[in-house]
Amino acid sequence: MKLYVEPCASCGQKIYLNKSAENRSELRRLLGSDRFHLSCAQCGVTGVFSVNEVKAESEAISSVAGGIVGGLIGILGGPAGILIGGSIGAAIGSSSDREEIKKVNFFNHSI
Ligand SMILES: [Zn+2]
Repeated sequence: MKLYVEPCASCGQKIYLNKSAENRSELRRLLGSDRFHLSCAQCGVTGVFSVNEVKAESEAISSVAGGIVGGLIGILGGPAGILIGGSIGAAIGSSSDREEIKKVNFFNHSI
C-alpha cells in the first residue's frame, strides 16, 4: 500500500509519501500535525497538504508475481508442474491482493 496526495500544485502529478500508516489518525501522529509539507518528486515544488487529503492505493501486483514464481517452481515438475505451480502461486498472490485492497479501503475511510 502506498500513500499519496494529489495534485501537485505545479505539475498536477501524485506525490507519494515516504511514510506508511494504517489509517489517517496514525499518519497524523507520525507527522506530528494535521498539515505537512511535501516536495513533489516530479518537479520539486513543495506544497502544504492536510492529512485528510492523503489517499492510499494498492500495489496489487502480487497475484501476477505469485503466478510467475509458482510457474518457475513448477518448471522443475514439467508441464503439469507449471500449471499447478502457477495456479497455486496466483491463488496465494490474489489472497494477499485482497488483504491489500482491504487495507487501502480501511485507510481511505479513516478520519
Ligand atoms: Zn510537481
